[in-house]
Amino acid sequence: MSNLDRTPPLTQCGGLADVATRPVHEFFAGREVLLGESTKVRRLLPNLGRRLVGPWCFVDHYGPDDIASGPGMQVPPHPHCGLQTVSWLLDGEVHHRDSIGSDQHIRPGELGLMTSGQGIAHAEMSPPTHPALLHGVQLWVALPDGSRAVAPAWEHHVELPVLSDTGLTATVIMGELGGAVSPGRTYAPMVGADVALEPDADGLLPLQPEFEYALLAMSGSVEIENATLAVGSMLYLGCGRSDLRLRSAAGARVLLLGGVPFEEQIVMWWNFVARSNEEIVEAREQWANATRFGAVRGAGDPLAAPPLPAGRLKPGGRVR
Ligand code: MN
Repeated sequence: MSNLDRTPPLTQCGGLADVATRPVHEFFAGREVLLGESTKVRRLLPNLGRRLVGPWCFVDHYGPDDIASGPGMQVPPHPHCGLQTVSWLLDGEVHHRDSIGSDQHIRPGELGLMTSGQGIAHAEMSPPTHPALLHGVQLWVALPDGSRAVAPAWEHHVELPVLSDTGLTATVIMGELGGAVSPGRTYAPMVGADVALEPDADGLLPLQPEFEYALLAMSGSVEIENATLAVGSMLYLGCGRSDLRLRSAAGARVLLLGGVPFEEQIVMWWNFVARSNEEIVEAREQWANATRFGAVRGAGDPLAAPPLPAGRLKPGGRVR
């Protein structure tokens, strides 16, 4: 998916100054953002407060939406650089096409992982005939400096490792959880896992004390250390835990995101993750000139970049 905001704000983040080195509870409500003409999403990262959780730098949660009588997701070709996109569905189907020739339908439980590296363009659309419900998350991972110029790549993984505890099943989407490792290629120590909780679940997730973590309730509600996380909201947990107890009376689906705090300062604008104002200006020009990101065949007219904000973009700290 794309950041389709026509006036995307400058987002400066990175560095360790504001990482919670001890366990904390910080709640974030999603901010509603309209993508294209028909898809509303709740943006959890970047947030007014926190910008990164490990290398995770962008989190949109959308649906469940009834798209039976509409086109569903219609995101035309747009570019990315300096990041990986992670597509994860709970319901529905999305057709991914990109400028390196990938053409893939993604279904619930399957990982769609696009490493933009130096640059790629893609389009994501609900197929003309699609399931009635669309529900999922779109996530971005910032690439470390040493890896952000890698060649663009697309991966589709149907088999993902699973970790279980009482009433709880965690599917490891990215990185590692309790020794279970996703086949998706990563460039920094991290985890992304979809945790399904049965009614009356009361289970433990193994964590790494040097990772910071956050949880997003995608459906149902979950109890964590006497706090309740409601659907569509995120809880930042900081570092310093070796496990996490999750309980749910009625059942829930929760996304666990984490990683070693991202030390580098980054600049995010529109669909680009960079290190300086100059890099953002250059990437925008190269999309307009069609000289860097390639073309997505058969997916309609590409999306034009919005105007740059006034003033220079500067890399900055992890919170506003
Ligand atoms: Mn995208």
